[in-house]
Amino acid sequence: MKKELLYSGKAKDIFATDEEGVILAQYKDQATAFNGVKKEQISGKGRLNNLISSLIFEHLKDKGIRTHFIKQVSETEQLNEQVSIIPLEVVLRNVTAGSFSKRFGVEEGIELESPIVEFYYKNDELDDPFINDEHVAFLGIASAEEVAFLKEETRRINEVLKELFSEIGLRLIDFKLEFGRTKDGSIILADEISPDTSRLWDKDGQHMDKDVFRRGLGDLRDVYEVVLARLKERG
Ligand code: UDP
Repeated sequence: MKKELLYSGKAKDIFATDEEGVILAQYKDQATAFNGVKKEQISGKGRLNNLISSLIFEHLKDKGIRTHFIKQVSETEQLNEQVSIIPLEVVLRNVTAGSFSKRFGVEEGIELESPIVEFYYKNDELDDPFINDEHVAFLGIASAEEVAFLKEETRRINEVLKELFSEIGLRLIDFKLEFGRTKDGSIILADEISPDTSRLWDKDGQHMDKDVFRRGLGDLRDVYEVVLARLKERG
């Protein structure tokens, strides 16, 4: 049922399937940071992100969020509805960290009074630049109504995710989402949600996400295993 390779990304390979409109995402063991400058093979990472992302997408579906997720089909693979990806990385921040702290010269760990949504233009050659609504319109990426929807939907997803992670003792600091357009033109959540694409801090402030790799703090598999085990335990 897995057919030709449609696209090979940094973290996933995307294959066509026998079924029209359905693609298979195969999660890779590769870890990258700083737009691919730091790169390593970490065996087992693909499995961890596929399983974590599948559980999170199932949960979002239960909470009424439309996503591209259909089902997990193996340890490293899931079936997704085929969409046309909108070239935006939509980042939501609950707490200061990472590039936000660097850009604005503020320490990490400050709770934001209300969450901040940011857009980055998904373009490796340009190093995913920070852009605003007016740049999005200029580039013809999305209409004003669609931008409003992206922000609103991201805030809604944040509420669901914050609660889910808090139930398993983790603080959701920030995360990145990607959305896609379906054939009928509606916009739905796509890509993945995992410790690769979010920042999760344990009660004592320990990093339970890709910062373990970015910052050379240890073996990311150890903390991803904990995130997966807690999500599974929650049921
Ligand atoms: N993020 C991501 N992919 C990217 C850039 C960022 O998934 O290409 C996630 C990152 O894991 C974090 C959030 O988006 O949860 C905000 O990242 P930030 O802008 O602080 O950049 P970073 O410090 O990761 O370079």
